[in-house]
Amino acid sequence: MNVRPVPKPSKKPKPRPKEAPSILQDRKECYITGAVTNLHKHHIFGGNPNRQHSDEYGCWIWLSADLHNLSKDGVHFNKELDLALKREAQSRFEAISGREKFIEVFGKSYL
Ligand SMILES: [Zn+2]
Repeated sequence: MNVRPVPKPSKKPKPRPKEAPSILQDRKECYITGAVTNLHKHHIFGGNPNRQHSDEYGCWIWLSADLHNLSKDGVHFNKELDLALKREAQSRFEAISGREKFIEVFGKSYL
C-alpha cells in the first residue's frame, strides 16, 4: 500500500487587522457637521503603520467629503483641524488605555 505523507497544514492567510468601532463617535455621521450623506472614513493617525493602528484602536471618524479631502478645508489639507482631531483622539484613547499605551502604539504624543 502506498502511504501518503501527511499533508502540511495549509498556510492560513494573515488575518486582516481588525477594525474596532470608533472611540470618538457612535453614529455614522460627519464628526464635525453631523451630516449623514457623502461620508468618508478618516483615519486620524495616517501613514504606515499608524493607519492600521487607527483601525485597530478605533481612532477613525466619519467626515463629510469636503471636510475630508475634497476641499482645501478638508482635514488632509488643514493642519489645525488635523491636529485638533489627533488631540481629541489621543485624549479619548488615553481615557481608555493611558498615555504609555498611546505612545507605544502611535509613537508620540500630540498633547
Ligand atoms: Zn482621511
